[in-house]
Amino acid sequence: MANGIHHVTAIAGPANRNLDFYTRVLGQRFVKKTVNFDDPGTYHFYFGDAAGRPGTIMTFFPWEQAAPGRLGVGETQETVYRVPKASLGFWMHRFVEQGVEHEDLEQRFGETVLPFRDPDGMRLSLVGLEGIEQEEAWTVDGIPAEHALRGFQGVTLLLERIDATAAVLTNVFGFEKLGTQGTVTRYKAPGIDIGGIVDLREAGQFLPARPGAGSVHHVAFRAANDAEQAAMAEKLRKEHGLPSTEQKDRDYFRSVYFRSPGGVLFEIATDEPGFAVDEPADQLGTALKLPKGLEPYRARIEQVLPELA
Ligand code: ZN
Repeated sequence: MANGIHHVTAIAGPANRNLDFYTRVLGQRFVKKTVNFDDPGTYHFYFGDAAGRPGTIMTFFPWEQAAPGRLGVGETQETVYRVPKASLGFWMHRFVEQGVEHEDLEQRFGETVLPFRDPDGMRLSLVGLEGIEQEEAWTVDGIPAEHALRGFQGVTLLLERIDATAAVLTNVFGFEKLGTQGTVTRYKAPGIDIGGIVDLREAGQFLPARPGAGSVHHVAFRAANDAEQAAMAEKLRKEHGLPSTEQKDRDYFRSVYFRSPGGVLFEIATDEPGFAVDEPADQLGTALKLPKGLEPYRARIEQVLPELA
């Protein structure tokens, strides 16, 4: 098993600001507009590539009044998107033009990276990669296909100690250790280009995370289907002493969750059935979709959700 990252889920502030940033500023497709199944008075947004393939999906719980989070150990520090290397100049220019907070280019593991923040202060970056120009891309006004984002490279987790989390990555999810630079050790899912990297940063004693707007809530790893997911959960329990939740049906995938040894909440999400299960592929994200059990309450739910511009 070596499937990489399925999605990253984070907490955001106001829904409209979040929607505008990921669709217009970053040019992602609004793949699904639904509600938080566990808190249906709030949205759950999904942004990704044209089809919402695993490894491209960033999801948010936007809360109008969310207090800002504070980064700390036991948390995802950064999510990295892939862009063609020649497009980094385009993006620096776009960030200046759009007032996006960003830093200077830096080198990591021989790659050029442009760190930036979303409007809630969430840490993101673009990594410039050679040879990905021809990969399919979703396009919006102002972002030609040649410059568009091509899914995740991966995430960086900020941990007090990395050993036990590394063991889960390699033993359960099939990642391999690539190398270490400073305090960061890189793991890769062999053969997986989109969402195939997890960097573990060992911080030692550091402030614990305080979740809030701009914080990543969890990172989901891929399982092809229920059987593969069950095998992973079994391995977690038997070989790592890590219990996971019962399976939850998220309509677009089926999930189990567990607290990874370093404190980050992990999910294992199936590739099946995907986002075209309840609306046509060419209309993804255009209508508010509700799980069957909440459909009877649609009118009331629509009344409390913030209106989207
Ligand atoms: Zn999730």
